[in-house]
Amino acid sequence: MSVSSLLTPDALAALTREMQGWRHHLHAHPETAFEEVKTAAFVIERLQAFGVDEIHQGIGKTGVVGIIRGQQDGPWLGLRADMDALDLHEDNDFAHRSQTPGKMHACGHDGHTAMLLGAASFLARHRNFAGTVALIFQPAEENEGGGRAMVEDGLFERFPIASVYGLHNWPGLDSGHFAIRPGPMMASYDIFEITLNGKGAHAAMPHLGRDVLVASSELVLALQTIAARTVSPLDSAVVSVTQIHGGDTWNVLPQTSVIRGTVRTFDLAVQDLVEQRLRDIAQGIAVLHGITATVRYERRYPPTINAAEQNRIAAQAATAVVGAERVDLDPRPSMGAEDFAFLQQACPGAYIWLGAGPGQSGCMLHNPGYDFNDDILGIGARYWVQLVQTILPLPSTTA
Ligand SMILES: [Zn+2]
Ligand SMILES: [Zn+2]
Repeated sequence: MSVSSLLTPDALAALTREMQGWRHHLHAHPETAFEEVKTAAFVIERLQAFGVDEIHQGIGKTGVVGIIRGQQDGPWLGLRADMDALDLHEDNDFAHRSQTPGKMHACGHDGHTAMLLGAASFLARHRNFAGTVALIFQPAEENEGGGRAMVEDGLFERFPIASVYGLHNWPGLDSGHFAIRPGPMMASYDIFEITLNGKGAHAAMPHLGRDVLVASSELVLALQTIAARTVSPLDSAVVSVTQIHGGDTWNVLPQTSVIRGTVRTFDLAVQDLVEQRLRDIAQGIAVLHGITATVRYERRYPPTINAAEQNRIAAQAATAVVGAERVDLDPRPSMGAEDFAFLQQACPGAYIWLGAGPGQSGCMLHNPGYDFNDDILGIGARYWVQLVQTILPLPSTTA
């Protein structure tokens, strides 16, 4: 009997009630980047109760890895959920609203953790697969790169994971539908800061100074030529200046100004090109104005790029769960970013969106009125179980 056929409607309904309880508990007790201490303890407590074979904690600071061995030997498979919340004040007033002022699960990572726990509960009980499942509960997906921290802490050296899979709920995509595509799913996330140093002067005697504000103005416009004139029209890039700081009063030309912003791309070669061009333009404008430019360019997250084979397998598992008509195999990628990308850089993997429908009051991710859609808990858990069945079938079940 296959793993998925053991998940009867009754068993699934009972598991869904449990997952909802866990999800509401996590929602009420949000913790942010690398402070997921109680959340990790909650995950560990559940994994112990399920009787998983090994539990490793403190990987990437607050990350947890649970190991479940199947009935027979086979490859290692990694399934990842993120555990962190956001620095955001929750607007909701339902019973499971955040108990911690200023922190909130507004990206649904409470639901992701509950769904992977639900799958873990089932897999640990039945173990009807040939191989080993590593349940990866990562910290700090938002901004701080918890995925990178786990990889740097030896995630893939300590556990010989052959392929890795991620999932994110996606408001705006119909509830219970999936969307996945080979290649780029989400963009890279870089930040930059350009400091211009000139020579301050009386605003009535500009010829005695070196004006950084005129130079800043030219620089902001010139940076827009990167996407328009350097990157191929067939590739994608966003260069957004989001801050300009300089000057304090009416009649002084300031000595310095600072310009900050973000860059998004889907391709490492394009990312390299944009960074180099941004540096060249900053230096060129500086030379033009007889001033100096100092550029700080920081690559936060690489693009999330699905490997062809793992994408195919994930789409197959999603199709087995909800039917081909509910799986979009060619969604438009998002210019948002996701630190699952660090896991994919180290190991072939695929990342899928699970539709959350319009959401609570039509809320999107990171909105203070957002709440994870509990209707999709069962579908997410079934997807994880089906993925294990698809990748690690017992020889007798490969009919
Ligand atoms: Zn988020
Ligand atoms: Zn998220």
